[in-house]
Amino acid sequence: MEYFVPRLLGEALRCARDEAAGGRRARFVAGGTDLAVQLAEGACAADILVDLSALPELQGIRIDEEGLRIGAAVTIEELAARTDLPACLVEGARAIGSPQIRSLGTIGGNVCNASPCGDTLAPVIVLGGRFGLVSPEGRREVPAEAFFTGPKATVLREGEILSEVLFGAQVNVAVWLECDPRSGAIRSLRAAAGSVAPTPIRLARAEALLLGRVAGEELERAAAEAAAEEIRPISDVRASAGYRRAVTAALLREALAEALAAARPGRS
Ligand SMILES: Cc1cc2nc3c(=O)[nH]c(=O)nc-3n(C[C@H](O)[C@H](O)[C@H](O)COP(=O)(O)OP(=O)(O)OC[C@H]3O[C@@H](n4cnc5c(N)ncnc54)[C@H](O)[C@@H]3O)c2cc1C
Repeated sequence: MEYFVPRLLGEALRCARDEAAGGRRARFVAGGTDLAVQLAEGACAADILVDLSALPELQGIRIDEEGLRIGAAVTIEELAARTDLPACLVEGARAIGSPQIRSLGTIGGNVCNASPCGDTLAPVIVLGGRFGLVSPEGRREVPAEAFFTGPKATVLREGEILSEVLFGAQVNVAVWLECDPRSGAIRSLRAAAGSVAPTPIRLARAEALLLGRVAGEELERAAAEAAAEEIRPISDVRASAGYRRAVTAALLREALAEALAAARPGRS
């Protein structure tokens, strides 16, 4: 059996397509903790294994105004160590196997293996996750709820790769402001956030920082940090407190940018 380590996602996709066209069976592998067992037991076969674990497009955990993005090659160990991700997902990761399995196994492998007892699957569904799938034909997104079709069966097509797991933001932020038409300074401002405290709240500290000042990169970052500190989010099944803080900061920056663009002199 051959083993191929592509450097880029496109190489992995082309390899699988070309091998299939040549009548050979290529299989993707990430941590190999499921696949190695299946190959050893003869439950599946392959002429070539295509290693996805180092592909840059499948790495990293990012939280921004759109929500949370987890690369498919992120290890279970990395997920389990996070304190700023939805609690049920982290708990699911912590429940998996042993330290050795968690250090090799990936969220993408757990999802694509589609075992009915996969520990990240129920959390991903309950959080309303979506899967980013790529193939030589392009990219599509499938809701986690619609992904699993049976034991070890999914809607993944031949040669298609799961690149990322996506979750929408669990927080909302709104900003209203007026700028001085001459100086551009913020002369009036209200900012509020929901899902970050027992009731929707004004972001008073962030407002105080911004009021009377001309917004810029540094000031907006400081206001976002102040907002993240002043909210009182809880950790629940949908999102951790740390995740809600990070998303609040990102959303405030985005809302500020939009409101400022609309409120530039003459357009309050
Ligand atoms: C001893 C032991 C204990 C375990 N305990 C648990 C447990 O408690 N809970 C649990 O949920 N699991 C458990 N597992 C299963 C396994 O460790 C997890 O499912 C793990 O997350 C799989 O990830 P992986 O990267 O190793 O997958 P791999 O073995 O590399 O791949 C699994 C399948 O997914 C496909 N695949 C992988 N990544 C992609 C991708 N990005 N795109 C398309 N296809 C892909 C592969 O082709 C393969 O079919 C255990 C396994 C072992 C051996």
